[in-house]
Amino acid sequence: MLLKNYFLSHLLKYGSVVCGSPRSRGAAAAATILGRGPSQCYYNYAGKPRTRSPGGTTHARVVDLRSDTVTKPGPAMRQAMAEAEVGDDVMGEDPTVNDLQQIAADLFGMEAALFVPSGSMSNLIAVMVHCRERGDEMIVGDLSHVHIYEQGGSAQLAGVHSTTVTTHPDGTFDLKQLEAKIRHGYPDPHYPRSRLICVENTHNIQGGRVLPLPFLQEVRALADRYGLSVHMDGARVMNAAVAQEVPPSTILQHTHTVSVCLSKGLGSPVGTVLAGSRDFISKALRCRKALGGGMRQAGILAAAGKFSLENMVGRLVEDHRNAKTFALALLDCKPPLFVVDASAVETNILRFSLQDSTMTPHEFCTRMSEVGEDEEAALGQGVQVLMYPHVGNSVRAVWHLGISFEDTQLAIQKMRFVASQYFKGIRQ
Ligand SMILES: *Cc1c(COP(=O)(O)O)cnc(C)c1O
Repeated sequence: MLLKNYFLSHLLKYGSVVCGSPRSRGAAAAATILGRGPSQCYYNYAGKPRTRSPGGTTHARVVDLRSDTVTKPGPAMRQAMAEAEVGDDVMGEDPTVNDLQQIAADLFGMEAALFVPSGSMSNLIAVMVHCRERGDEMIVGDLSHVHIYEQGGSAQLAGVHSTTVTTHPDGTFDLKQLEAKIRHGYPDPHYPRSRLICVENTHNIQGGRVLPLPFLQEVRALADRYGLSVHMDGARVMNAAVAQEVPPSTILQHTHTVSVCLSKGLGSPVGTVLAGSRDFISKALRCRKALGGGMRQAGILAAAGKFSLENMVGRLVEDHRNAKTFALALLDCKPPLFVVDASAVETNILRFSLQDSTMTPHEFCTRMSEVGEDEEAALGQGVQVLMYPHVGNSVRAVWHLGISFEDTQLAIQKMRFVASQYFKGIRQ
């Protein structure tokens, strides 16, 4: 009892001192400064959408093209969630989760599937299962999500070493370079052991590019020759399937495992499905629990995922069409202001650049997001179009179920307005 009181008072006394120490305040300030880096990519864009409303505008129309993760569940999906039958999924007793996993496994042509909280956890689990020993190595694209945007989780949490191959603009790799990255030294203690090749489809940073099927076939043949596994970060593989007009299983026959996000263009609020062989999934289940991803009455979320797979795939083609329409409108801009390869716009992600270096991607995004005084007179209403500056001095815009044909037309009008204001400005 005495001892307990001692600990308590010690904790109160010194705990509060530690929290308020100058060192931690200094560290917080440093973090703030570090966070304010140049806006080279969409995860560190500091610009919040702002509305200048000199005329007292209150109701600007918002066209949010920042990401396909901003989608919100509609009434039908919410109803499916509300009515979901649930149980304790860690005990394997949630019927809706089990249903989702079965539907996903069938759709992807895999033996089994596992519902996981996020795409990042799903990829990490895949890496942990494929690369069983510390010091195993995976080969990843240098611009892949796994390599760039997942905080090096494979190294810090799984003890897995990565080596990179150059990502081509279409998301593929050079197969000779890929083969050259495979290690042959095992069990010589100098070398890590190659275990896994990761591919990304569609390719996020490269602007939603769809990996050609012959490329996947060749990657798989290479992996088979050297006894490696192939994991696909298929966050948007359903967009790829729709673009190629094939069932996803046609794509995934070339991979051992796949991770598919339900919470992007497919519109679920949360969730990813990881799929592979029965043996792989039984190991993945253990990893998921160790990473804190075991969820209980997860059927509420799985119901949304089921709804996504059953009802939301067909409409992805609209997103692809709208992205293309916007790309063509950029090309059409007179005088020309944008650089875009319309043939590279294969799915719902558009990347483009500005010809004129006097307007930066950051400034263009800011102008698109602000509603100016003249705009209402010119367009009849205020339109805020949200997009992010992206890697390589480009701008990224992503279409999704929250963006209609009309929204796309509004975004085009706004883009033309911003361009005309810009040219007016440099003539003066
Ligand atoms: C979004 C995304 C992920 C990660 O998904 P989260 O659910 O955000 O963790 C992985 N890979 C790609 C290509 C993505 O676009």
